[in-house]
Amino acid sequence: MKIKVLKDILDANEQLAERNRQLLDSNSVFAVNLLSSPGAGKTSLILATIKSLKGEIKIGVIEGDVSSSLDAEVIGKEGVPVLQINTGGGCHLDANMAYTALNNLPLKSIELLLIENVGNLICPAEFALGEHKKVLISSIPEGDDKPFKYPLMFHKADAVLINKIDLLPYLKFDIQSFSQAIKAMNQAVEIFQISCATGQRIQEWISWLLIQLSKR
Ligand code: MG
Ligand code: ZN
Repeated sequence: MKIKVLKDILDANEQLAERNRQLLDSNSVFAVNLLSSPGAGKTSLILATIKSLKGEIKIGVIEGDVSSSLDAEVIGKEGVPVLQINTGGGCHLDANMAYTALNNLPLKSIELLLIENVGNLICPAEFALGEHKKVLISSIPEGDDKPFKYPLMFHKADAVLINKIDLLPYLKFDIQSFSQAIKAMNQAVEIFQISCATGQRIQEWISWLLIQLSKR
């Protein structure tokens, strides 16, 4: 019985996500759903991306958080439209929340919409928002066992960003076996090694993003 209820919720979410996708497409907005555990660098990635693409691509941001608007305030200082969703304790964004946010953003003047999901490697993987790509950020301090512990998230990601590579000399993290584990469950995934703190190899992520945007 419980399983049926969950399936109904996910089906309803899927329909709402489709409506969001149509709204995004009709406004030529390319949307990325950013997923990670807390502290892996979603906000830092958004800031680095805004910095890189300033004057080139019009960016908008949706900030999903359990509470507070700290991240939205930081991003708002960059002069891009940003909308905060507080889930009031909820552990993921859903398509209905995203729909409300989309209706409160100037979609006509946004080309790239970055959606920072709630920091959590479990249920955000199950709730589509209408995004075009799911991007998962995994960071060196979290350890290299995450693909085994949270396979659904890695299976569904279109790209995985390994963040904080500047910390590699100090921590034990086997990038090769980490990447192999992801590829084994998701052949099509793109994997990037970056540091938002130092800007190292951010350009590779930006190039991928620009290719996706050109297909919009
Ligand atoms: Mg954040
Ligand atoms: Zn959840």
